[in-house]
Amino acid sequence: MAERIVDVLVPLAVDRPYSYKTSEALIPGDIVHVPLGNREETGVVWPGSGEAPATAKLKSVIAKSDYPRLPLELVKLIDWIADYTLAPRGMVLRMALRRSSELGAAREKIGVRVTGVKPPRMTDARARVLSLLENGLLRSKSEAAEEAGVSPSVIDGLIDQGALEAIALPPEPIALPPDADFAVPELNPAQTSAANELREAVHTKKFSVNLLDGVTGSGKTEVYFEAVAEILKTKRQALILLPEIALTTRFLDRFAERFGERPAEWHSAIAPRKRARTWEGIAKGEISVVAGARSALFLPFNDLALIVLDEEHDPAYKQEDGVHYHARDMAVVRGSLAQATVVLTSATPSIETENNARRGRYKRLQLSERYSGTEVPQLEAIDLKKEGPRKGRWISPRLEQAIGETISRGEQALLFLNRRGYAPLTLCRSCGLRMRCVNCDTWLVEHRYRKRLVCHHCGFDMPPPQHCPKCETADSFVPIGPGVERLEEEVRAAFPDARTLVLSSDMSGGVERLRAELEAVTNRDVDIVIGTQLVAKGHHFPGLALVGIIDADLGLNYGDPRAAERTFQLLHQVVGRAGREKAGGRGLLQTYQPEHPVMKALLAGDRDAFYDSEIASREEAGLPPFGKMAAIIVSAKEGPAAESYARKLAASAPLSDDVRLLGPAEAPLSMIRGRHRWRLLVTSPRNFDLSHYVREWLAAAPPARGSLRVQVDVDPQSFL
Ligand code: ADP
Ligand code: ZN
Repeated sequence: MAERIVDVLVPLAVDRPYSYKTSEALIPGDIVHVPLGNREETGVVWPGSGEAPATAKLKSVIAKSDYPRLPLELVKLIDWIADYTLAPRGMVLRMALRRSSELGAAREKIGVRVTGVKPPRMTDARARVLSLLENGLLRSKSEAAEEAGVSPSVIDGLIDQGALEAIALPPEPIALPPDADFAVPELNPAQTSAANELREAVHTKKFSVNLLDGVTGSGKTEVYFEAVAEILKTKRQALILLPEIALTTRFLDRFAERFGERPAEWHSAIAPRKRARTWEGIAKGEISVVAGARSALFLPFNDLALIVLDEEHDPAYKQEDGVHYHARDMAVVRGSLAQATVVLTSATPSIETENNARRGRYKRLQLSERYSGTEVPQLEAIDLKKEGPRKGRWISPRLEQAIGETISRGEQALLFLNRRGYAPLTLCRSCGLRMRCVNCDTWLVEHRYRKRLVCHHCGFDMPPPQHCPKCETADSFVPIGPGVERLEEEVRAAFPDARTLVLSSDMSGGVERLRAELEAVTNRDVDIVIGTQLVAKGHHFPGLALVGIIDADLGLNYGDPRAAERTFQLLHQVVGRAGREKAGGRGLLQTYQPEHPVMKALLAGDRDAFYDSEIASREEAGLPPFGKMAAIIVSAKEGPAAESYARKLAASAPLSDDVRLLGPAEAPLSMIRGRHRWRLLVTSPRNFDLSHYVREWLAAAPPARGSLRVQVDVDPQSFL
């Protein structure tokens, strides 16, 4: 075959593909090895490859890889995201290829079984292994070693002596096929009608977005499982995105209860080889259902027919580093490219989604009652101006009394405070020095269990100083304000006989420990739970009867356009953990602002009132989703360099009647990891191509030299 030119995109910080010669028949999506500088890279043949004859100067493609090709739909998604977010195309591709470099056969597992030959010398360890394997069955070598409590070398020794024989085991399948009919639930009428709508949507094979809008505990999962069942019957593929995959053992189990097998998993904690095999299994269509974190959106499904985003309002769906993208929006894009059914579930939809549902762009499927038939909890405010706690305490008398009543009935109470650690601020009593991070413009947070002062932005930590570094007074530091650890101290003092537990993402022991702790709460091995936002996320704690919000105002006071929305969603979700199986769930909300619209809507249980007013005020201010917004963050090692470049950038913005430029201003978090930060914000009407405008602007802007870095965040969620 004659040589021709192909364009190959490499997974590096480049925006355009490079041209290569090839005599192979390559088509877009093919994964290839190409020379780059003096290295070899794995890239992907990109559309628009030239038909022009190859010129001598071009280098040649080394070889086509054995990996399955990327579906064209995924190639288009990558283009779309790069154009929209302004991230270099190659870096978006990298998210889709990240796992394939480890492609390869599964590591061969060795099984062992007894031969009947006795080893010449018997030791305790050897005896344990032989008695474990006495039944003559084949067992994996590593398991046998672990269960017998011996090192693998003991097993090897027994093999050498002929007492055990080694046999290669077939690779474990990544995910066995789920069975649509394994345990079909009986749905109530509202669930049935929502499930029918979803089944119908899947059948049409046309793109649609559905908001599964149901109160906490209404059985949204049960309903979208019916759409998954439909996918299984028609042998297509489904993707379920979850906001906090590390905590979703419960979800995987629930899936297995319904379908007989767990789905394939996709998130950062999966081991490389398993990841590689999962990737391949999806590309080949051997895996039908994947449950994963937002990065699963970039998997090479060839026949994706259903995308579910569970708890679609969750802020964790926005990626805040590298490529800044929002998984909800990109799920909708991928759904439209795949002509798939998209299902967004929430009891507190994002303003964007609620607005789309109100305008008929998304179809709303409503579940207005809890499956158990219990009411969503009664909420009462505790006005901290009138009935606040005693000095140095954080729990008001009324809340304390409610906790006492709850646990004496044998039920559980949850205290919610969205602050990790013991105290958010540590201050010298003698000179007033506040302990700050050395890299960031933040206070260090005391973590008493760990005996460290910690920066929540860069991870810097240090032991609490014995003497004040400034005035040198000994033991002069006092904690200011509460974190969950300090709250626990108060709870233990007030209820010494109760079993208390702090649930926070930063405890030692990581995910395993958290899973065990969540189990303990579910099994009622705990009376009082003290938790951060982690507890808001979809958990079903049957014995939980009371939720106390320690500081309902905590999220309201930042200059963040989404502060009201976030607070409403978070508090509503937390309170929704109570009374899920038994009537009489209660929520108590400690606030200085009971008259604030967010508190009023929460207290009245009037969700629509909140959305009405929030949507109206966003519309009036031209804020998303009624206008577009992009943040530009300029950072540098030196403050003046960041500032002066930010000003130059602002001065070079092309004139446009559609664009409003705010700033530059020093970022509220003016330093992170030793970098000084300045922010610019641009807004435009909804129908204006703001990404294009910013791209042209930055392309023509003065070059950012030295330590300067310019980051673009389209549709920013964080304003720090
Ligand atoms: P949501 O996601 O809407 O908060 P879930 O899907 O977690 O609610 O359901 C709440 C509880 O009710 C779960 O324990 C679930 O198993 C149970 N449930 C919901 N619908 C059904 C049903 N049709 N049959 C049996 N159990 C159900
Ligand atoms: Zn720091």
